[in-house]
Amino acid sequence: MILETVLAFLLGAFGWTFMEYVIHRWLGHDPRLRPNPFAAEHVRHHGEGNYFAPNWKKVGAAIGTTAALLWPAVAVAGWPAGLGAVIGFVSMYLGYEILHRREHTHPGVGRYMRWLRGHHFHHHFTNPRANHGVTTPLWDWVFGTYAPAGMIRVPAKLQMDWLADVETGLVQAAYAGQYELVD
Ligand SMILES: [Zn+2]
Ligand SMILES: [Zn+2]
Repeated sequence: MILETVLAFLLGAFGWTFMEYVIHRWLGHDPRLRPNPFAAEHVRHHGEGNYFAPNWKKVGAAIGTTAALLWPAVAVAGWPAGLGAVIGFVSMYLGYEILHRREHTHPGVGRYMRWLRGHHFHHHFTNPRANHGVTTPLWDWVFGTYAPAGMIRVPAKLQMDWLADVETGLVQAAYAGQYELVD
């Protein structure tokens, strides 16, 4: 039973990575599905760079989704496993929120995190039709929207706080190989 619950947790977490891709690619970026409440917030996130939807909206959406998922999950998999799957899903969602915010606000920690951040900023500044995954590039590979980050040209007015030296206004040496500031 413990093994089953752990597997259900992992499956739930994996399920979130797919939802993250679906919500971002189709609700956020497909003109056929606009307008919708997620796109309204997401367009602002792209336009202003440092804008994130208010927490009360995110918490509300998370509670609503948890409630909606819990009963079907328990009906299918029983109590411990069904609950484990939903907790896995919601935990990965929280991880996504933290990771996405930190990508914008803090320098990345470790090689993989810096690489993932490049994946996301390619989406922001090079091609919004590519790289919809935030916690993983997996679904971009699966659906053919993966693009290598390459050189990312960041408009100066949308630049992230960690990118440039406050004194000189130039891209920090550590990021100069991957990011360029443009007007
Ligand atoms: Zn972003
Ligand atoms: Zn986007």
